[in-house]
Amino acid sequence: MHVLISGAGVAGPALAYWLRRGGAAVTVVERAPGLRTGGHAVDFRGDVHLSVLRRMGVLEEVERHRTGMGAMHYVNERGRRISTLPADLFAGDIEILRSDLGRILHDATAPLGVAYRFGDTVTALHEDPDGVTVAFERAPAERFDLVIGADGLHSRVRALAFGPEEQYVRHLGLHCAIFPVPGELGPPNSALAYRTASKVVIVGRSDRSGPAWAQLFFPTPDGAEGADPQRMIREAFRGVGWVTPRLLQALDGNDLYVDSVAQVRMPAWHTGRVALLGDAGYSPCLLSGMGSGLAVVGAYVLAGELLRSGGDHAAGFAAYERLMRPYAEGAQRGAEGNARMMVPQGRVATALLNQYMRLVPYLPGKQMIANAARRTAEAVRLPAYA
Ligand SMILES: Cc1cc2nc3c(=O)[nH]c(=O)nc-3n(C[C@H](O)[C@H](O)[C@H](O)COP(=O)(O)OP(=O)(O)OC[C@H]3O[C@@H](n4cnc5c(N)ncnc54)[C@H](O)[C@@H]3O)c2cc1C
Repeated sequence: MHVLISGAGVAGPALAYWLRRGGAAVTVVERAPGLRTGGHAVDFRGDVHLSVLRRMGVLEEVERHRTGMGAMHYVNERGRRISTLPADLFAGDIEILRSDLGRILHDATAPLGVAYRFGDTVTALHEDPDGVTVAFERAPAERFDLVIGADGLHSRVRALAFGPEEQYVRHLGLHCAIFPVPGELGPPNSALAYRTASKVVIVGRSDRSGPAWAQLFFPTPDGAEGADPQRMIREAFRGVGWVTPRLLQALDGNDLYVDSVAQVRMPAWHTGRVALLGDAGYSPCLLSGMGSGLAVVGAYVLAGELLRSGGDHAAGFAAYERLMRPYAEGAQRGAEGNARMMVPQGRVATALLNQYMRLVPYLPGKQMIANAARRTAEAVRLPAYA
């Protein structure tokens, strides 16, 4: 079995690892010129996530690269702390930079002989009863038995095999922007957050992230994707107080991440010899804190079911979807609530939420919030594949 995986983020290398262990030939094509560096943090929560990392033999290495990020302090307009959320409430059991995670997963596949092709992308898929002919932007066309789209929220494989993004990507009413800011604006190993009517400004710094970063959330209508990102951000945060004007001075387009907070909802994750994995097929959105866990668990189950089906890819894909869908949909339901809470509409709702944030550290059930995500992952019963 020769499998093409599009995307060397989190899901792609994790799938490559398991398929290669099972004896398949694997090629990974990645649009970026190399493995990404820097970037945002992702987290793993609960036994299901940790046990997949353990089975891959990377858990210790992942633990060694924890961000070490501490608490998040909510502040008022004058910068006075009004509430503190302990790290374990939002950072899961292990928080790690996505770039560190990607490199660890990539390095786990290197000795197994996975072929990586950076700086290229799939441009066309032609399926026939015996396989898929794949055209690339740079390399000559090639035949594969199966093609897996692990190419994220704006998946090219999904667009080619299932149809345009608008059919499946659901905007949750807000955008997120992240960019580096001068070090003195970020408190060491912790974050400061300021919430004003329907907008949130967070600035933080962790031992591993290097420079400080600002993370902004703001409401946007459907179709805001095409807008000039810098202009959109400056307009949204005009007149917003605290240190926001100083953060915006650092916004120069370099290293700027800006995207819609969105989910991927699909009636089916596979068609013929093509299937989707991770954010490409079922992104719960970046506010869920569940995307990286879904990606590694999904990779384990997809590879396991494909190998167990003994060449019957349709049966393997169907079993993968049956096992993973309740988990993915649970994560998506939770994330919708997070998105609504992130940018409440109006001053009254904002004031109420700020009051609630003040109380969270004292709530007897505060661990329930942290445990909700762990319980969501328990919706999947991990089979022990041979
Ligand atoms: C700002 C932000 C904060 C987040 N916070 C968290 C968090 O706290 N906890 C958490 O669990 N998750 C978080 N996530 C989500 C998490 O990063 C993703 O859910 C996870 O990385 C999914 O992995 P993936 O491999 O499916 O997709 P990605 O990690 O997005 O990887 C997709 C890969 O495909 C490549 N690619 C894209 N298009 C093409 C193409 N046409 N051809 C070839 N390659 C292509 C990309 O370059 C990328 O390397 C966050 C995401 C963002 C953006």
